[in-house]
Amino acid sequence: MNNQLQVNLSEIVAFAEKHAEENIAFIQFLKQLNTETLDAIVHTLNEQIAPKIDCTICGNCCKSLMINVTEKEADALSNHLELSREKFDKQYLEKGSSGMMLINTIPCHFLEENKCTVYEYRFEGCKEFPAMHLPHFQQRLFTVFMHYDRCPIIFNVVEELKVETKFMRNYEL
Ligand code: SF4
Ligand code: SF4
Repeated sequence: MNNQLQVNLSEIVAFAEKHAEENIAFIQFLKQLNTETLDAIVHTLNEQIAPKIDCTICGNCCKSLMINVTEKEADALSNHLELSREKFDKQYLEKGSSGMMLINTIPCHFLEENKCTVYEYRFEGCKEFPAMHLPHFQQRLFTVFMHYDRCPIIFNVVEELKVETKFMRNYEL
């Protein structure tokens, strides 16, 4: 694996724009691979790459994603913040188009200096993102590439995946 990881978000965005067509071809290529083999490669790359990227320096998911909140999560966090559910909902939540509750600001209210101030009470989506450890990578290609230019972990895993799967990549990051 290339030891040099790209963590500069503006360079990642510029790179993603420049390589948009290549990524469309890569998605088609990935769809042809054996799903278990692909998961195994992605999980290995994620284990190598994720620990080398400092999320407290990045914080970009908390600054750019819509965060879903369940009733149970809202109950737990409102208790922790010593707010009634009514006050908590008014202050922090809105209803999304699907009827699901969402945090009502982007960046998230609870991010301060790139750190989550409610870490123990953060939501399931926060814990799961960027989800490169999950199975069925092939079924999640749309969301993976939706977040490719937003998350350095996803970006670097995908770029190394091009090498590991022997998809063409003739450049250094
Ligand atoms: S709750 Fe914490 S981890 Fe989740 S988006 Fe907000 S700041 Fe980030
Ligand atoms: S998960 Fe990705 S986007 Fe979120 S802080 Fe870590 S590197 Fe940044």
